[in-house]
Amino acid sequence: MIKFLPLGGAGEIGANCYYLNIAGTGIVLDCGMHPQKTGLDSLPDFSLIENLPVDYVLISHAHQDHLTSLPFLVKQHPYIKVITSRQTRDLAELTLHNSVAIMQKQLGKDDNFQAYTHEEIDLLSQTIDFKPIKDVFEIEGYKHNSSESIKISFHDAGHILGSVSIMLEHNSKKIFYTGDINLTNQTLLKGCELPREKVDTLILECTYGASDSSQILTWSKEAERFAAEANKILNNGGSILIPVFALGKMQEMLSTIWKLMEKRKLPVVDIYTGGIGTKINRLYDVNRYLVNVNDTEFQLKSIPYKNLNDVENPEEFFKNPCIVVASSGMMIEGTASFKLAKHWLKQRNSAIFVVGYMDENTPGFKISNAKKNDKIKLSDFSEPIDVKCSIKQFKFSAHSNREGLIEIVRRLKPSNVILVHGDEQAISWVGNQILKIFKTPKVFQAETGIQIKI
Ligand SMILES: [Zn+2]
Repeated sequence: MIKFLPLGGAGEIGANCYYLNIAGTGIVLDCGMHPQKTGLDSLPDFSLIENLPVDYVLISHAHQDHLTSLPFLVKQHPYIKVITSRQTRDLAELTLHNSVAIMQKQLGKDDNFQAYTHEEIDLLSQTIDFKPIKDVFEIEGYKHNSSESIKISFHDAGHILGSVSIMLEHNSKKIFYTGDINLTNQTLLKGCELPREKVDTLILECTYGASDSSQILTWSKEAERFAAEANKILNNGGSILIPVFALGKMQEMLSTIWKLMEKRKLPVVDIYTGGIGTKINRLYDVNRYLVNVNDTEFQLKSIPYKNLNDVENPEEFFKNPCIVVASSGMMIEGTASFKLAKHWLKQRNSAIFVVGYMDENTPGFKISNAKKNDKIKLSDFSEPIDVKCSIKQFKFSAHSNREGLIEIVRRLKPSNVILVHGDEQAISWVGNQILKIFKTPKVFQAETGIQIKI
């Protein structure tokens, strides 16, 4: 008997965390934090597994919504074993330390909630075990009654550095958890490698289930559209601000821009970037022979980018055309991209290029939906700002489009599909398509706190 219990991230893209009980062994898949919530609200509901066996946590990748509540889970279950890929372990150390300061700033005085400390992250990082991609390793819970162990293997998910999908096998029944998955190539990373075998249960992410795939072009096609729009701005003397997530999108956008410049499809102008993303760049470089990349010769450090934090007066960015790649991706208040956006909005010749997903209720969402001459308020208490710059939207996706999600079902031929990581519309499109096309699988919509038995 296998039981699946979502602790978060079921009908939304939030604190992704799923509990599996396989013949008495408790395994947590991912341990995320909701990016838009604070305090206890941002965590998965760990009380649901308080009295259940919790032996292992397997992490698919190092994005905040899959990783950042790990220190809280480990606090409650000190004997839990953490296993992930080598790259995710290294990224986890970097990003968890980075999240300490952010969390403390957000919290203010919340007596019910204690942010973790740098010392705790140091200890935790040392205990994270890692396994190479495709290696099959066996795990067994402490309270496991039988001698049958569970076989686990990681498969490249093509989403960000170190991202994996996870195969779990017990008594010849196979469960495959996609994590965040991408079938097609980005500039740096190649698409995912799916196992070539039938699985019994597929736990499938649905991020782009509600998005028309004609709007999500391949990365290289979107790069051409990007180049055409960027040329108009740069040739007119303007500068471009690109808000990005520091992990994944920053590295892919920097290399996309640089490769366009090398091919003379973009004028060579100054590129600025900074923050934790530049440390992550180094990890992409040193791991280029260990993960599936398009070009092992290419290193991010060969891009002559300048540090945006060295620029004291933001007016400098508008003296000559330049491109600034800054985090956060959703222009959250207080971040580099938020501060810069306020200057960019006043510039008639310049532009903000939105390249990824924006959550509603974020400044990024308001900016990305604004047009020239609109008046927008970036936060409840701020003065309205006139939008003078251009705003262009692109979809550089690190997730499968919805046809890709159906393709995953076609290749893995599951008997059961559990849909996670998407809003209601996304999940209902994917669920309906699976039933319409394949007819045989049982389709479950994951709901936080509701157990599914398979
Ligand atoms: Zn992700």
